[in-house]
Amino acid sequence: MVSDMLKKVVKKSIENEFYSPFPENYKKGQAKYIIVLGTVMSGLGKGIFSSSLGKLLQFKGFKVAPIKFDGYLNEDAGTLNPFRHGEVFVLDDGTETDMDLGTYERFLNLNLTENNYLTNGKLFSEILKKERKGEYLGRDVQVIPHVTGEIKLFLRNLAMKTKADVVILEVGGTVGDLENMFCIEAARELLYEEGKENVSIIALTYVLEPEFLGEQKSKAAQLGIKNILSVGIQPDIIACRCSNPVTNKIREKISVFSNVPLNKVISLHDVQSIYLVPEILKRAKVDENIIKKLNLKRKNHFKEEQEEIKQWDAWTEKIQEIKKEITIGMIGKYTALRDSYASIIKALEHAGISHNVKVKKKWIETTYIETGEKSIENALKDIDGVIVLPGFGKRGAEGKIKCLKYIRENNIPFLGICFGMQMAVIEFARNVCKIKNANSTEINPETKEPIIDILPEQKKLESLGGNMRLGGKKIEIKPGTRAFELYGKKKIIRERFRHRYEVNPKYISTLESKGMVFSGKHPKYPIMQIMELPDKRFYIACQFHPEFTSKPVICNPLYLGFVNAAIEYKKR
Ligand code: GLN
Repeated sequence: MVSDMLKKVVKKSIENEFYSPFPENYKKGQAKYIIVLGTVMSGLGKGIFSSSLGKLLQFKGFKVAPIKFDGYLNEDAGTLNPFRHGEVFVLDDGTETDMDLGTYERFLNLNLTENNYLTNGKLFSEILKKERKGEYLGRDVQVIPHVTGEIKLFLRNLAMKTKADVVILEVGGTVGDLENMFCIEAARELLYEEGKENVSIIALTYVLEPEFLGEQKSKAAQLGIKNILSVGIQPDIIACRCSNPVTNKIREKISVFSNVPLNKVISLHDVQSIYLVPEILKRAKVDENIIKKLNLKRKNHFKEEQEEIKQWDAWTEKIQEIKKEITIGMIGKYTALRDSYASIIKALEHAGISHNVKVKKKWIETTYIETGEKSIENALKDIDGVIVLPGFGKRGAEGKIKCLKYIRENNIPFLGICFGMQMAVIEFARNVCKIKNANSTEINPETKEPIIDILPEQKKLESLGGNMRLGGKKIEIKPGTRAFELYGKKKIIRERFRHRYEVNPKYISTLESKGMVFSGKHPKYPIMQIMELPDKRFYIACQFHPEFTSKPVICNPLYLGFVNAAIEYKKR
């Protein structure tokens, strides 16, 4: 049901051209908005920039709510192929999102929800539902004012629901892409409606530095900024991405062309780790400038944040002191696109920093192991630990199973994630329990020995989007196991899932009788969630994705334990 308040606004809109619904009790100025736009090219790290700025504002005591807008017509990221789009990041509430949400959660130490993610697909689907219910009361539903009105409503609702001091909107893609132009138009309207003191626009751009010239060039950046100006938006701050620090001359040029003072055209050059970006922004006074521009009042609880700042600073200092390194074999099939495993890479980095090592990754594509083009011995030579990565479908699965036999027999530290756990259970069933035909019905639907089978609740589902076993769920940990030690002797933990298949309950007793320990289970049903082989150095696998909850400073225990085991193994 549309609220009375909304009805009033909608009614009015039949008589005039306005449609800008507000949530109930919404007060202008209560929340401020920062809008981050990109120019020249995508992939500049708008997510990292937004998160870093958010972190600095958190350090000053402000409550931050990030939101990412994606121009895709997909309702969420669930059906996107990781090869094309990078990892699907799963939120605790089960929403399948773009990997930028992972960056936000890691930096800001927040549990985000579906309210922090908007795609064109979700937007249009909501609008069409409203239209069918007659909620636009006879109006022709138009991009302006209706689509832009709904975007503004989504932002304002987020501000209300989270009680945020600052909402940070990251618009995916670049200004000029047809698919995000109405979001940028909504930003312009928001700026007008909320007032300049309540909305700040930040543009990220790219300064070219072609090797054949050996100098920086600002033309592409200038044209990019012109694009933003041409839609009626004046950026307050311009952050220039570049491999090297952007020269003063280039910053001056960009300043002249964009009406942005020189001190607000900042260099955002490459650094050793993304966790050092907040420091760059702090030095460039981006946070101070935003606080001034938005007239943000200092919070009383600023002092409480001091402890967190100390911890963060100590942790980021460690990054610069690391000397030792370990090498982890990353076994999977999307290894050509590293972004497919963004959170796993981050979780390894977090654990590595905590243990003072750099984690080098060796990518092992199992399709070649399967065909015999590459030997396992060669692939696993000189590595200190192995992760068998998540995955879907048949390709490369037998290669993973072959690698797992070698890993188990040679006692190499091993962490299996989701599909990685399923493959490890199949390998154990085949080679230890002597169930020759053991398989997963995902790989062979006709298998006589379905050690891994589809979850009962999944049998009834037909479509593919948004219906896996998704999101944060409780796991009961068995005392006395390695998992119990790693999770600090907690009996119940919470981790995030994204799967359709499980260890077939019929085979559990056989597997256990040969030494496999299921150290994590669903508190009520026989869904196996952590498996370990206690007689090995470190052989542990989980049905969930521990990387989704790994944060800097507060790393995930399974990754911490695994990296530690790899460090010990390296001393062999
Ligand atoms: N394909 C497997 C399943 O659906 C594993 C999924 C995954 O690795 N995330 O259960």
